[in-house]
Amino acid sequence: MPSAPTPALPQTTCKSLDDWNEPTHARRIYGNTWYVGTCGISVVLIATPQGHVLIDSAPEKASVAVRQNILSLGVRLVDIKTILLTHEHHDHMGGLASMQEATGAKVLSRANVVDVLKSGKNDRRDPQFNELAGFDPIVNVHAFEDSSAIKIGSTQIQHIPMSGHAPGGSGWTWQECEKGVCKNLVFADSLGSISDDSYRYSAPDSLANALRESSQRVAKTACDILITGHGTASDLLARLDGAKPLLEPQACVNYAQAGALRLEDRLKKEAVK
Ligand SMILES: [Zn+2]
Repeated sequence: MPSAPTPALPQTTCKSLDDWNEPTHARRIYGNTWYVGTCGISVVLIATPQGHVLIDSAPEKASVAVRQNILSLGVRLVDIKTILLTHEHHDHMGGLASMQEATGAKVLSRANVVDVLKSGKNDRRDPQFNELAGFDPIVNVHAFEDSSAIKIGSTQIQHIPMSGHAPGGSGWTWQECEKGVCKNLVFADSLGSISDDSYRYSAPDSLANALRESSQRVAKTACDILITGHGTASDLLARLDGAKPLLEPQACVNYAQAGALRLEDRLKKEAVK
């Protein structure tokens, strides 16, 4: 039976909210969902009596800090049974292999990137292919079907296919309750249409349409609390620390629109090049 999280680490102030590796203390997001990431990269722990779920694992350099945060909640690493991903880039999952080793958890992945995760080699279809750092090969990876729900006890974590920034992009949504008040949490994947020098989102086989569809899916997801992999995209730490409202029913719609607009901007720029 996993222990129930109780936060214990001293509070810290981040020097830079863009620093992927700078440690910061764990925070409750809502209900049994906890922020265990760094100043710049989100890692989310969903605690359930049937075993915990981790979404993302930050870069390898941050893995000690992330594990400290998990332990600070009184959670045993071995009680993390399942690891999910937003997308297969080193800033969000460079620490996955070591996290898996420390926890023994299985990794659930979209079918279209299972081979990429197992190989540890970057994906040629990826817009940032030429600029990505690699990652250690992942073992014990199991594919799930797009849009399926991952069920752990009474917790249901619904998958939202979000290709566009990366081929295997995933958003996740689940419900948490506090004193009978239940909220929809959404961990949305990046909608950034950024790439290496050679990739063109205007090419016929690009991920542009996928990115548009991903924005539409996020916009229509029931969403009270938005979480993003780079916290700055949703002012996440400021919201968790009470400097801004945590609940923001329009957050997913605004996030989706901003992502879609950036893509159209980029396509215009590519057209005049
Ligand atoms: Zn990325």
